[in-house]
Amino acid sequence: MTFDVVVLGAGSAGEWVAGGIADSGGSAALVERLRVGGECPYVACIPSKAMLGSAHARNLARRLADLGAASAAPALDPGEAAFGAVVRRRDDLSQDGDDRRAADGIIGRGVTLVRGTGRITGPGRVEVGSRELRYRDLVVATGSSPVIPAVDGLGTVPSWTSDQALTAPDYPASVIILGGGAVGCELAQAYAAFGVAVTLVEPSGQLAADEEPVVAAGLADALRAGGISIRMRATAVKAAPGPAGGARVVLDDTSAVTADRIILATGRMPATAGLGLAAIGVTPLESGALSVDEHCRVAGQEHVWAAGDVTGLAPYTHGANYQARVVTDNLLGGRAAADYRAIPRVIYTEPPLAAVGLTQAQARAAGLDTVTATADLSKLERVATDGAAAGRLVLVADRARGVLVGAAALGPGADSWIMEAAVAIRGEVPIAVLADLVHPFPTFVQGYEVPLRELAAALAGSESPGS
Ligand SMILES: Cc1cc2nc3c(=O)[nH]c(=O)nc-3n(C[C@H](O)[C@H](O)[C@H](O)COP(=O)(O)OP(=O)(O)OC[C@H]3O[C@@H](n4cnc5c(N)ncnc54)[C@H](O)[C@@H]3O)c2cc1C
Repeated sequence: MTFDVVVLGAGSAGEWVAGGIADSGGSAALVERLRVGGECPYVACIPSKAMLGSAHARNLARRLADLGAASAAPALDPGEAAFGAVVRRRDDLSQDGDDRRAADGIIGRGVTLVRGTGRITGPGRVEVGSRELRYRDLVVATGSSPVIPAVDGLGTVPSWTSDQALTAPDYPASVIILGGGAVGCELAQAYAAFGVAVTLVEPSGQLAADEEPVVAAGLADALRAGGISIRMRATAVKAAPGPAGGARVVLDDTSAVTADRIILATGRMPATAGLGLAAIGVTPLESGALSVDEHCRVAGQEHVWAAGDVTGLAPYTHGANYQARVVTDNLLGGRAAADYRAIPRVIYTEPPLAAVGLTQAQARAAGLDTVTATADLSKLERVATDGAAAGRLVLVADRARGVLVGAAALGPGADSWIMEAAVAIRGEVPIAVLADLVHPFPTFVQGYEVPLRELAAALAGSESPGS
């Protein structure tokens, strides 16, 4: 039998496409070598957010007296004892890595689930073990895998990737986290809340290296306030067993850090190796990603599509689902095109860092004449009433069109209220209209009002907050 669609990889993207085709009456085979559901439910989004949820609750409990919710600070059990509770809750929410529910769900929708590693053997053909699957259209949704940095001696010391850090029951008394991106910052805060001594090593001059410097600096302040030691502009060059076990890591400034364990959070790369892409004449980009057009069709191919981390374009679950939506529409005869201008990016620390669109530097590099406004959110009444951490908001506008092209925020609930900027960017809502919006009082989303008015004034030519 020839399937209408064969999907390689049953992560967020693959599940979405295969399910969508089956729901519409088409035949779909979904090939998965590990777990139906992919990374997100078992080793990525859900366990990390579960640990962070517990960590934020513990940090909030420490502030009960300050917040007027208790007459004295409550006694919390030691971090190591509490960690067992975190692990139980985390593993429960990530279904102990058991994909039966997801597998039953997708089979129940009429998808043919094929367990094993899929390999393309030629146009229209995929091999899974001894079985050959034939397709009209192929969707590559194989995700990404952790980048292991070239650190001399890394193999001789205890180290985890995020996959292991988010599934292991062990409590490390101390960790060195290599990489200050989203995964590194989130794990740092999750562990530190439970008394783990955390050193975060970041090669660039800021955490969240691609985000607006002012919000990234605020994030670093928030992590430091939680007891995390940050080694900026530092790269691990050598690792060796420490004097009392664990790991001793030498940095490129010749200083050394020791800890029970190293956690590698040095990025991920698209998983295209060994897929047999050459058999259909496809060569991945240097990054390992598959090059796709706006319909998520693989460059130069009529019947091969890609969605999710494997494209390297929007490496988030919502990005994978979005591209899967575009692919599914095209496979069902539509002409959907992906628009990447307003895909939100979030680091789920407390407070969260959330951003959408271009940073000021990216907008300038793209040749735009930018106008920027930056707001300190500490004056918001809601910050005072909640006793919340203050925050920052940066808005970047295109002077020529009078619309927002980017926003970056650090502040309570920013992961949700960043969507006001996302709608504005995607819908090209005039700044004058945005500046006239009414926000409920007292909320964090009111933080938009002052910088939007500044932008509106600057665009009207009366004042220039920054360009
Ligand atoms: C620690 C961590 C936390 C994260 N937190 C968030 C978050 O909070 N929010 C968010 O939006 N994103 C988050 N992400 C990113 C998110 O997990 C990914 O963007 C998302 O899972 C990508 O989905 P995908 O379908 O592209 O790939 P995956 O979920 O990786 O699925 C790919 C699947 O393909 C399978 N596969 C690969 N090759 C083959 C083959 N040859 N044959 C058969 N099967 C194959 C794999 O086994 C895997 O199951 C996080 C990532 C990490 C690492």
